[in-house]
Amino acid sequence: MDFDEFRDFGHASIEFIINYLSNIRERNVLSSVVPHEVINQLPRQIPEQPEHWRQVLDDLEHIILPGLTHWQSPYFNAFYPSSTSAGSIIGELLIAGIGVLGFSWICSPACTELEVVVMDWLAKFLKLPSHFLHESEGPGGGVIQGSASEAVLVAVLAAREQAVRRERECHPEQSESEIRGKLIAYSSDQSNSCIEKAGVLAAMPIKLLPAGEDLVLRGAALKEAIERDVAAGLIPVICVATLGTTGTCAYDDIESLASICEQHQVWLHVDAAYAGGAFALDECAELRRGLDRVDSLNFNLHKFMLVNFDCSAMWLRDANKVIDSFNVDRIYLKHKHEGQTQIPDFRHWQIPLGRRFRALKVWITFRTLGAQGLRAHMRKHIDLAIQFENLVKADERFELVAPRALGLVCFRAKGDNEVTSQLLQRLMERKKIYMVKAEHRGQLFLRFVICGMDPKPSDIQFAWSEIETQLTSLCAEQQVNARKAGELSELTHHLSGLQLTNETLQR
Ligand code: PLP
Repeated sequence: MDFDEFRDFGHASIEFIINYLSNIRERNVLSSVVPHEVINQLPRQIPEQPEHWRQVLDDLEHIILPGLTHWQSPYFNAFYPSSTSAGSIIGELLIAGIGVLGFSWICSPACTELEVVVMDWLAKFLKLPSHFLHESEGPGGGVIQGSASEAVLVAVLAAREQAVRRERECHPEQSESEIRGKLIAYSSDQSNSCIEKAGVLAAMPIKLLPAGEDLVLRGAALKEAIERDVAAGLIPVICVATLGTTGTCAYDDIESLASICEQHQVWLHVDAAYAGGAFALDECAELRRGLDRVDSLNFNLHKFMLVNFDCSAMWLRDANKVIDSFNVDRIYLKHKHEGQTQIPDFRHWQIPLGRRFRALKVWITFRTLGAQGLRAHMRKHIDLAIQFENLVKADERFELVAPRALGLVCFRAKGDNEVTSQLLQRLMERKKIYMVKAEHRGQLFLRFVICGMDPKPSDIQFAWSEIETQLTSLCAEQQVNARKAGELSELTHHLSGLQLTNETLQR
C-alpha cells in the first residue's frame, strides 16, 4: 500500500468511525448473532493475495459490526464504562502510526518523559498526596499499566517480594520456600475478581474478608483476620482495598485499614479502577480520605476519564520497592542515563518488557478536553445517574438496593428474585438496553451504569421507559397466567367432582 492509498484508507476509516459513533443509537446495543455465525462468514486462512481495503471495510460493516455489543452506545448500561473520546481515538491512531516501544528511556526518551509528565498532571488533577509525584523529592511516581488487573498484580508481586526479603533478614534460619509457604494476603468479598486472580498468579492465598452490611471493608475485620493468621504462624503481606467496588461502588474504609496495615507492616493497595476519577471533584473529596497512607493505588482512565482502553494509571509511594522486585537486566537493555531521577525505565514497573506509548493518547485527551472538560464529563455521568435514581424512587414497583454512587444505580423490582430475573431476561431478549445482574445477601438486583460516549437525559428516559414498560407487561402476563392457572385448577377440581358423582351413580 503506498502512501496515497494509505491516506484514502485512513480518511475512509475516520469517516467510518464517525458514522458508526454518530448513529450508534440506531443499533440494538446487543448483537443478534448466534454462536459461530461470525466464524462461519470468515475464511479459515489468510487471503493469499492482498485485498482492497474497501472490501475490508465492507466486511467490517456487514460481518463484524452485526456481531458487536456496542460499548459506546448510551444504552450500554452493563459494566463500568469503557470510555473514549475524539482526542483519545486520534491518540491511539498516532500511537500506532509512530509505532515506538518505550521499555527504557533510551528506546524513546519522549515516550518515557511524556508519561512522567502526564502521570504528574493526573496526580495533581486528582489531588493525590504529593509523594506520588515524579517531581517530588522522594521515590514515588506514577506509571501507566494496561489494566487494573495488571496494576493489582504488580502491587501484589512487589509486596510479596518485599515481605520475603524482610522475613529472610529477620529469620535467616528459615528457608525461602518455608517463608513463601506462609504468605497471606487480604481483600474484601466485594472486591473485583482480578484481586483473587492476582493471588492465584502470585501463588499466595488472598482471603476475601466479609464486608459489613453496607458492603464496606473496615479495619476491624482486617485486624481480626491478621491477628488470627499471625497466631497461626502465617505472614500477612498485602491488603487490597477498593474505592468503588464492582457490584455496588462501595468505598472501603481506607483510614481504618491503613492503621492495621501500618501496625503489621502490611502493604496497602487501593483499587479505585472506576471511582478514582472522582478524586478530582471537590464534592467527592471525602473519597480521598486516607490516601496519604497507602502504598499504591490504581485508577482506570479507560473507565471514567475518556481515554480508550487500555489505560490504567498506577501510583507508588516508593517505586524502588517494585523496581527492586522486578529488576531483571541484560546488557542490551542498559544505557548510560539509567537510574537518574525523573527518567525511569518503566519496564521495571510492569510485567511485560515491551510497552505501548499510551501516554500520547492521555496527553492528547487531556489537552483537547482540558481539566474542565474532564470534570464536566464526570459530573454529567453523576447527574444522569441521579436522574435515573429519581425515576426508580418515583415508581413504587421498584426499590434501590444500595445508595447511588457516582454513575451507578443498583435497583430491583420489589418482590421475589424471580420478577427481577425475568425482567432482565426480557430486556436482554429485546436488546434495546444492556444491564447485568448482581446479588447481595440473596437479593438479585440490576446495575444501571451511565456509559457511552455522549449519554444524554433523553437516553435515560428511553432506558427507563424500556424497563418500566417491560415490568408492566411482565406483571400483566403473570396475572393472565395466574388467572389461567386458577381457572385450570378450578376446572380440575370440578372434573374430579364430576368423576366422583359418576362413580357414585354407577355404584
Ligand atoms: N477493579 C474494579 C473495582 C473493577 O470494577 C474492575 C472492572 O470493572 C476491575 C478492577 C478490572 O479492571 P481491568 O479490566 O482494567 O483489569
